[in-house]
This record gives sequence, C-alpha cells and structure tokens, in this order.
Amino acid sequence: MAGIDKPRPDRTARALAGKVRGRHGERDLLLLGVTAAATILFVGNGGTVLGGIVASAAGLGMGPDRLLTNALLLNIALLILGWRRHEQLSREVREHRLAEEQARLLAETDALTGCLNRRSIGPLTDRLIAEAQARGEVTTFIMIDLDNFKQINDFNGHAVGDQLLVECARRIGEVLPAGSLLARLGGDEFACVVSIDPHRPEIVDGLAERIIRAVSAPVRVGEFRGQVTVSLGLTRSDCRNQLNHGPIDAATLLHMADIAMYQAKKNGRNRHLWFEGTMESEIRYRSELESALRRGITQGEFVPYYEQQIDLRTGELTGFEMLARWNSPQLGLVGPEVFIPIAEEIGLIGELSEQVIAQALRDAREWAPQLTLSVNISPIQLRDPWFAQKLLKLLVEANFPPSRLDIEITETCLHQNISGVHTLITSLKNQGIGISLDDFGTGYSSLSQLKSLPFDRIKIDRSFITTMANDAESETIVHTIKSLGEGFGLPITAEGIESREVLEKLQKIGNFKGQGYLYGRPVPADMVNAMLAQRDLMAAPAAPAPPPSPDGETRGENRGENRDRGDATAAA
Ligand code: C2E
Ligand code: MG
Ligand code: MG
Repeated sequence: MAGIDKPRPDRTARALAGKVRGRHGERDLLLLGVTAAATILFVGNGGTVLGGIVASAAGLGMGPDRLLTNALLLNIALLILGWRRHEQLSREVREHRLAEEQARLLAETDALTGCLNRRSIGPLTDRLIAEAQARGEVTTFIMIDLDNFKQINDFNGHAVGDQLLVECARRIGEVLPAGSLLARLGGDEFACVVSIDPHRPEIVDGLAERIIRAVSAPVRVGEFRGQVTVSLGLTRSDCRNQLNHGPIDAATLLHMADIAMYQAKKNGRNRHLWFEGTMESEIRYRSELESALRRGITQGEFVPYYEQQIDLRTGELTGFEMLARWNSPQLGLVGPEVFIPIAEEIGLIGELSEQVIAQALRDAREWAPQLTLSVNISPIQLRDPWFAQKLLKLLVEANFPPSRLDIEITETCLHQNISGVHTLITSLKNQGIGISLDDFGTGYSSLSQLKSLPFDRIKIDRSFITTMANDAESETIVHTIKSLGEGFGLPITAEGIESREVLEKLQKIGNFKGQGYLYGRPVPADMVNAMLAQRDLMAAPAAPAPPPSPDGETRGENRGENRDRGDATAAA
C-alpha cells in the first residue's frame, strides 16, 4: 500500500500566475512612479491653476498660465490612468485568489465524490492526531472497501459504478460525526478519521456497524438494483506501532487499517475488524503465496487429480471429477480451497483452470469412451465472454468429444448476471457439453432459475450426504432434492459418500450417481490409469481418432443421459 503524499499546491496554476505577475510587475512599478509624481505635481500645481481659474471667473485676473493648465490636465489624466490600473490590479488579485482556491480544492478533493483524496487525507490526519492528543483524545482510522465492486462495475458498466461510489460516499458521510474526515483513496476504497475518548473504543465499533448498515441498504442506480456490502479495517493512534516501531502517523495508521480491512475480507466480508499485530505476518505469508502461485502457473505445477463417479444402482464406474492440486516444491501438495480463491482474486483463475483442464482432457482421452470427465468452473470464468470459445479450443486440441465433458458450476454463479450465465450455458450445451449444478443446497438458487437454466444434473452438496447417517434433517433434505430433481427431470449425483450406511440409504431413496471417499480419494492420472487398466477400461490403442465432424455429431460416447450432442469444431 502506497504511503500518503504530502499536499502539493497545483504547480501549473501557480507557475502561470507567477509568470503573468512578473511581466506586469515592471509596468505597474513604472505606473506607480508616474502616478505618484502626478499626484505631487497635482498638489503643487493644482492650487495655482485652480486659484487662477477662480480669480479669472470673478474678473480679478487674466486666468491661469496656459502651460500650467495643460500640465494640470495631464496630471488629471495620469491620475485617472493610475486609478483605473489600481482597479484592474485589485480585480486581478481577486481572480488569482479564486483560481488558487480552486486549484487547491482540485488538488485536495476527489473529483467524483467530493470527498478528500489520498493526497490530502495524510496531512489532515496528522493534524487531527496532534489536535486530538492535545485534548486527551485518540484518533481512529477506518479503512472501508466495497465488497465485489469490480464485478458490479464489470457487469453494469462504469457509469453505474461511478454513481454507486457517489451514493456510498454520501451514505458513509451521513453517519460520520461532525469534525471527522472522509476520503476516497481511489477505486472503491474510502477512509474515515474520527477522534474519540480513548476509554470508549466501542464508539468506533458502533460507528463501523452504522457504516456497514448504511451502505448495505438496498440501492438502485441505473439498471443496477441490489445491495453493496463493505469490509472495514480499524486502528487507533495510541496503539503500539507494530509495523516499524516508529511514532504513529497517518501513513502507519493507513497501513494498519488496510491490513485489518484485508483480514475482514478474508473472514467473509461485510464486517469490521480491529488491527492486530499477528495480521501483518499473515499478509506477508499471503503475498508469498501469491508469488509462488504465479510462479507455479508458469512452471506447470498445477495438476489434475481424479475422483471416481459411480452409478449407485449398478456400482458401475461412469467417469471422474477432475479436482485441481498444486504440486508446489516449497509447500507440498496444496488443495484447491487454498489456491482457487487466491487465483480468483489475482485474476489468474482462467489461466490456471485452462492449464489443468487441458491436461485432464489429454488424460481422459486415454480412458474407455464411455467414461466422462467433470471439471469445476469458477464464477469468474463464467464472466469471461470468450470462455465457451476457449473451452472448445481445448476440446479440439485434445480431440476430446464434447459430449464426454461435464462442466460443474456452483450456485453462487447464478447470483449475478443470470442472463449472461444463461447464454453461456446454452452455447456450451449446444456443443454437447453437459452442465451440472454443483454443491446444490448451499446457495440460494431459486426454482425459477432451476427451471429456466438448462442444467443436465444436480449435485447434492456433500455437507448433507456426509451427515445423513445420523442427521434426520439432512436425510429429509436429500429426499426433497430428489423430488425436486424428478420434478425438473434432472438426474442427481450425491457427493461425499463416506460410508456403506449412507450408500445404502441413498440406494433406497432413489436412482443416484455418487462419489466420495468410500470409493477412493482423488488420485493423479497414473493411478487412475493403473486402476482402469486393471478393469480393462482404457481406450483401445486404435488408429488415430478422426477429426470431429462439422455437422455437430459426436461419437464414441455412451453417456446414458438425455442431452443434446455437439462437436467442438462446430463453434471453434
Ligand atoms: P467440489 O467440486 O464440490 O469437489 C468435491 C470436493 O469434495 C473435493 O474437495 C473432494 O476431494 C471432496 N470430497 C470428495 N469425496 C468426499 C468425501 O467423501 N468426504 C469429504 N469430506 N470430502 C469429499 P477438493 O478437491 O478439496 O475440492 C474442493 C473444491 O475446490 C471443489 O469442490 C471445487 O469447488 C473446487 N475445485 C477443485 N478443483 C477446481 C478447479 O480446477 N477449478 C475450480 N474453479 N474449482 C475447483
Ligand atoms: Mg465439483
Ligand atoms: Mg461439490
């Protein structure tokens, strides 16, 4: 996080004003001298000439000397000129001050929201810290970051994003006490600085709660209707400086609040957290993880593992779900729960996913043609307008029939951009790719979504299956999902089958596919191949497969499921 800059007056405006002043200055000095001389002459000369005029008017003299009269008239002209220049100069000074004030405002405020900006919040915070200290108070720094703002911006356009930022700034500003500072630090990041009684930190907890409530109230901006949540990081000026052990200043407060805010995001967003010393090391670890992950992608350290999928009625192996693993030289074998969220956050999920899917397609080509391959897709990938094309390209490159591929998407994908997801799913389905709704029961997909989106299968989340043996409620949920699937004509997979007891219960409830540790843990390709070879389920070492035909027909598959068929080349 960059430190806070010192305020910098608008140099351009000042430089311009300086130049203009320099040029006019010499002329004005000359004019001042001339006006002063004219005034002296006027005083000396005026009495004589005016006296002469008065005497002549009264018939007592010949009138003033002609030369002196002309000189007096010249004096008067010079005085008028001097006066006008004085007026002009006063106006120029007024305009110059106004321009300087505007330049200062521009330099210190955020043009979009009218809040302070990153440049001005630092020195003002330092001043507030000193003033609060003198009064026996402490200064608290609150870092605010909107949750998932990038997605809202991407989906709804930047004009909506801008209006949303303005609305959020207004809502935050409304709940802040008088005398506090509010700045937009850039993007969707805001900061508030508030002085409080050091013995009443709960005031800031209350304020943080009010900010969260105010921002998350329903909002309607252009086409966008919904809610925006925020994550807050808090710190105070009398805490020990655990970052560099120096005196606490604005830059240190900002850094600490930023770390706390980041932690609040990590803990689930839509919350506030106070800074603690241990957070710093976590941040460092996370940044090391990020670099290792970037390196890992370039070094090809991400590999597919495979979990068996079984027809529970017949016990027959129907295919595998590919689950990515990170084979890191430094960290060992890392699970997707750790690296997928990071890859999503740093924008590398697409690259990572394509790498493992490409490898999985090459692996799966070696299996018997009736075996399917399921792959998980992140919600971020579904937002990529080129996703369908990229996937079809991978299929063509691996010469793998689309009808043997299943895409698993989670319910969270359906929360935003439902029409975009609909288009994408339809286009994938038209190529013959199957679409499963993964982790069903944990999200909030509505019945209308289930009806309108052309899914091929529902996968009941493992949290219901693993607990089924001793939790009647889970069993009821499984029954309900089974009825729902029947109603929508969607076959069901139960994931997380760990025991015979659960398997038997599922077999009694319905005609499911299933997967879980009962059938084995996810394993790498060579172990899959060894198992398939034992069961005579490897593809026959036939002549090279003919290229996919352009008429949309696929071959070599036996899915046992009712779905459209297509061919990778049709869209590639
Ligand atoms: P998922 O798609 O629901 O995958 C099933 C997870 O359940 C896997 O965890 C699997 O190892 C685990 N599991 C399977 N059987 C059992 C069981 O009997 N008991 C229990 N307790 N767990 C079982 P894993 O491999 O850690 O994957 C976790 C999640 O990470 C996956 O959930 C999936 O959402 C995501 N994921 C994995 N690979 C990828 C990928 O390549 N791309 C994306 N976007 N997400 C992935
Ligand atoms: Mg899955
Ligand atoms: Mg799942």
